[in-house]
Amino acid sequence: MTIREAFEQEELTRLSPRAAKAVLSRGRVRPVEKCPLRTDFQRDRDRIIHCKAFRRLKYKTQVFLAPEGDHYRTRLTHTLEVSQIARTIARCLRLNEDLTEAIALGHDLGHTPFGHIGERSLDETMPEGFHHNEQSRRVVEVLENDGAGLNLTWEVRDGIACHSGAQFPATLEGECVRRADRIAYLNHDLDDALRGGVLREFELPVDCLKVLGNSHGERINNMIADIVANSQDTEHLVMSPLMQSAMDGLRDFMFERVYRDEWRKAEENRCDYVMKALFSYYNAHPGEMPEEFVLIGYREGTAQAVCDFLSCMTDRYATRQFQKLFVPSGFSQF
Ligand code: MG
Repeated sequence: MTIREAFEQEELTRLSPRAAKAVLSRGRVRPVEKCPLRTDFQRDRDRIIHCKAFRRLKYKTQVFLAPEGDHYRTRLTHTLEVSQIARTIARCLRLNEDLTEAIALGHDLGHTPFGHIGERSLDETMPEGFHHNEQSRRVVEVLENDGAGLNLTWEVRDGIACHSGAQFPATLEGECVRRADRIAYLNHDLDDALRGGVLREFELPVDCLKVLGNSHGERINNMIADIVANSQDTEHLVMSPLMQSAMDGLRDFMFERVYRDEWRKAEENRCDYVMKALFSYYNAHPGEMPEEFVLIGYREGTAQAVCDFLSCMTDRYATRQFQKLFVPSGFSQF
């Protein structure tokens, strides 16, 4: 018996009957020889960590655009926090932690530069709309690995595509990530807003904090503990009505005070302008994109290729491209 086979056997006996098991996976689009050491889900996690799109998360905005301070979250640190929260829930419920981790690390790979502002720009530009969760699936299925994709298992791709939006994931591991994503962003965006002076401690909604807890750590812990306590033998992961309504209350507060506040408006308009200017430029000059996107243009049309190129960009790459294309560089002495 190989080490991988021993892991697979152990999953069958140790994990909950509700958990996804690597040996029962619906598999990959292109079958490959099994790894002697790692299960298919462990292998998918590693494929994601080693891909280019994962490294780009470092330079993509979470909520605060290109923050000067070193302690603000980026899309990469957000992803790591989601992974940790989702794994804790999965482990406590005896779900498949490897699958959960793979989905979590891949969930935001398709996120645009400039956070949700960039996402909205592309959504307004593309005839069929744009959603980052669907683009994340496209990154792992089509864009990575010079157009070959990462050839991940069905369960990982399903969890990535259904971490947000109307469609729920098919596995409870996917649900762990969907829940963990919300827990992570609400808490760390609140923490960053306090750090940046956008919010003051005394302004926070007292009723919600009474239920959620008074510190960052306490709030995350309480949300996780509530899901674990209420989801022991349910079909889906659930929160108690009290915790859910406190979390919804905090979410409404964050939308009003942080996500949709006036102070962001000017910056949002600039980001939208950059995205739309880049889109029209490359739509008119598709040959100036890197070759991999030119090839997508031949296969799937120019608009799709430009959308892929733009959504792959980091904040700083998009800004630099804009500068290069539209801002005079001035005369410099040789
Ligand atoms: Mg996310």
